[in-house]
Amino acid sequence: MKKKYIILTLVLLTVLIAISVDAFDLPIIERNKCVGCEDCIQSCPVDAITIVSGKAVIDNKTCINCGKCYRACTYNSIRTPHE
Ligand code: SF4
Ligand code: SF4
Repeated sequence: MKKKYIILTLVLLTVLIAISVDAFDLPIIERNKCVGCEDCIQSCPVDAITIVSGKAVIDNKTCINCGKCYRACTYNSIRTPHE
């Protein structure tokens, strides 16, 4: 019985760590470089990007981290936290 709880706890911890790592990988808009051209909006398959005050903004709850916006931005305004 005790072994079951240990395994369950380990599984839950693994899932939580995986979710956390994924969340930290989400794209970041460098607002000083963004010109509001909307190319990233066209590339996003889940409509996670909007323009606010002339700059792109990503809704992290909607983003599925597909990477299409990184490639679409010719102004190099979108990066991952690891770049
Ligand atoms: S493609 Fe780049 S420059 Fe254009 S709106 Fe998106 S982040 Fe800004
Ligand atoms: S990574 Fe994909 S889902 Fe997330 S904002 Fe960019 S294009 Fe949209």
